[in-house]
Amino acid sequence: MDPTQTTLIELRDAIAAKTTSATEATQAYLDRIEQHNPALNAFREVIGDYALKRAHQVDVGEVTGKLAGVPIAIKDCMCHTEGTTACSSKMLEHYRSPFTATAVARLEAEGAVILGKTNMDEFAMGSSTENSAFGVSKNPWDTARVPGGSSGGSSSAMAADLAAASLGSDTGGSIRQPASITGVVGFKPTYGRISRWGLVAFASSLDQIGTFSHTVADTALLSQVMFGKDPRDSTSAAIDVPDELHDVEGSIQTDGPLRIGIAKQYLQEGANDPAVTAAFDQAMDVYKQAGAEIVEVDLPHTEHGIPCYYIVATAECSSNLARYDGVHYGHRTETPPPAGENPIMHLYCQSRAEGFGAEVKRRIVLGTYALSSGYDEKYYDLALRTRRLIAGDFDTAFQSCDAILCPTTTGPAFKIGEMADDPLAMYMNDIYTVTANLAGIPGISLPGGFAEQDGKPLPVGVQLLGKAFDEKRLLRIARLYERETNHGKQRPII
Ligand code: GLN
Repeated sequence: MDPTQTTLIELRDAIAAKTTSATEATQAYLDRIEQHNPALNAFREVIGDYALKRAHQVDVGEVTGKLAGVPIAIKDCMCHTEGTTACSSKMLEHYRSPFTATAVARLEAEGAVILGKTNMDEFAMGSSTENSAFGVSKNPWDTARVPGGSSGGSSSAMAADLAAASLGSDTGGSIRQPASITGVVGFKPTYGRISRWGLVAFASSLDQIGTFSHTVADTALLSQVMFGKDPRDSTSAAIDVPDELHDVEGSIQTDGPLRIGIAKQYLQEGANDPAVTAAFDQAMDVYKQAGAEIVEVDLPHTEHGIPCYYIVATAECSSNLARYDGVHYGHRTETPPPAGENPIMHLYCQSRAEGFGAEVKRRIVLGTYALSSGYDEKYYDLALRTRRLIAGDFDTAFQSCDAILCPTTTGPAFKIGEMADDPLAMYMNDIYTVTANLAGIPGISLPGGFAEQDGKPLPVGVQLLGKAFDEKRLLRIARLYERETNHGKQRPII
């Protein structure tokens, strides 16, 4: 067998059955990375020796668990004691973390083999990885196109089978949008489900770790391993994790027929690429065929999602990124202070000027402005009130449905450079994803078929949104669609 052409669960089982070994599997992925990463730039750093050491421990029985021997890639904003954790920023280029993020530690505690850190938009700000200080990642379906962002290295790695699964973080769509346009499954759980300890903060009230994989079952298994309260993260939820979370074939428990909500706000005339509309229509048919009731729900504040998100996210980032001052953390300038200038201020300002890229600076300035005295009520407070209304829309909608079906993105992957000079157009990429973060609810993007552009098939996704902490049901509803369609089976030719 080729260990790189399986699902995570198949590979795990093959290693357990000794059809292959953890070392063979890890070496196969490392070879594939060596072959394809130069073209894709999916990994910012590979920790091959460490991965092989871990794989060996699995093969000799020192390490066991639910993920024993399975090679996984992590996003560059997740701390790990091995290698550097750079957030794809010049600011943290040489940062070595003294600890490992809880989510990653939980994977390792179940025997996962971490392969390396994937490229991302600097500090997770962006939708394309074009904001990385280490170059853009490429979409394996068409290397002239972006793999989405900010977790674009993880989506690219997943779509190209450079790992059996990968982790991402989703603050406004950074798992679901890249998953959608690279043709893989991308899952953002409920806020608080997975500890953020060791996840470098962008916007703390929105950030959530989640997964990329080829199947809903793989997603569910990884979730089972990572979910649950962590005393080190006070915002992690002390809510029981169902034992059968990983069992996506179980029955979808509902009082009556399954009710799938659809909202007109996601289906405006002309807003979506025809392939996105076709994927959505097909998904609706799948649920109808399965006996589900299609219920119209209203999410009237959806249009305020983007402005609300960009106030909340920039405000929080302006505070979170204050710690990169060239002393506590981050790039330290070597330019001497000009005569008469306060050396501390010089160090701070110059380190930030050199260490941060343009988008990060833009957001710090925007967020500082939104929080500044006299403007905070006009912008930040208003955004918080709007956020409450958006969450309220979902509360009402979930009284009449079990999950909401909608597109993940308006279209397939765009070309590298296409939106580089237009930050506002780039921000609009998140139109269907940000509201889930604002409301804290879980969302999953599933491969929904293909658009064709420049003679190439380009994946599009469908998204399902669920009630907070109702992931077990959401994943089973997602599995129902996957079982009937299987769009994720097709792989790019690389
Ligand atoms: N694209 C959005 C942004 O630029 C979302 C990023 C994210 O989810 N990390 O902020």
